[in-house]
Amino acid sequence: MTANRSGRTTCGRALAVLAALCAPVVAYAQAPASSTVNPPEPVTDLRVQVVRPGLNVIAGVGGNVVVWSGADGIVLVDTGLATSSAALVDAVTRISEAPVRFVVNTNSHADHTGGNEVFARKGAVVIGREALVEQGGRDPAAPGDNGDALLARPMITTNDTLALHLNGDRLDIVHVADAHTSADIVVRWNDADVVDLGDIYWSGQYPDINVESGGSLAGTVAAIEAVLARSNARTVVIPGHGPVSNRAELAAYRDMLVAVGRKVREAVEQGVAVEDVLDAKPTADFDARFGHPGALVTPEEFVRSVYRDLAPKRPGR
Ligand SMILES: [Zn+2]
Repeated sequence: MTANRSGRTTCGRALAVLAALCAPVVAYAQAPASSTVNPPEPVTDLRVQVVRPGLNVIAGVGGNVVVWSGADGIVLVDTGLATSSAALVDAVTRISEAPVRFVVNTNSHADHTGGNEVFARKGAVVIGREALVEQGGRDPAAPGDNGDALLARPMITTNDTLALHLNGDRLDIVHVADAHTSADIVVRWNDADVVDLGDIYWSGQYPDINVESGGSLAGTVAAIEAVLARSNARTVVIPGHGPVSNRAELAAYRDMLVAVGRKVREAVEQGVAVEDVLDAKPTADFDARFGHPGALVTPEEFVRSVYRDLAPKRPGR
């Protein structure tokens, strides 16, 4: 998600003293004003889920984080928000005290790269896409970026694929073009049969397609199709945001994207203005499943992004 949206989970100015801890911690924001810097037993909404032996998914620190641990050390997929770093380091250490050897970023946004610097300082090698280097490993729109951007940058980049052979498995790191942004990364554990799509997939809610950053509906659907083609009923499907998922849910998500996209495309081709497209509620059949209150991307935001994506492609261009 984008920096402005990540702002919904950040604490207010009055609790700035807890800023290093509060991003994933709704409970902190509700703490009495007399709270001190060191609450004795902070309660957080950080959640850890074991999806396979040695594979844990941490939610509540920004984007989902995967901790892959084993005899060769730890690999992290994404590092959450910078303000969540302390809580993330603590959670990772509780899973394993082995060193974090690699960090893989699925995209360059601040809710996926915020902890890069912390883990790089401890010796981790950051892997990402080329554009992530240009942006210093951080979302350029992220506020309060006073850290060492060089450390946050990927040391290894790819615009294709590469593989890590560790912990008795093979992790494929696959560059995907024009999906959530112009360049995203999907990772797949071959033997464990687990795939992480990053922000190409938001389980249980509409996606944030960054059209202005080169994302597209067609690219998102194509990336999901590629994952579906290599998945089965046992495959664990990890989204960038939302609960851990599976192939059937991902296929239903693809169907929703295609159905809404078809309606918006037809309207665009007929020259219908975006406000009239919104009035026609092209997501109506899916809002109960994906448009629930509290979802980061509203149906309107989703439809507007699809419209922006498809509008330039009307016949006659
Ligand atoms: Zn995100």
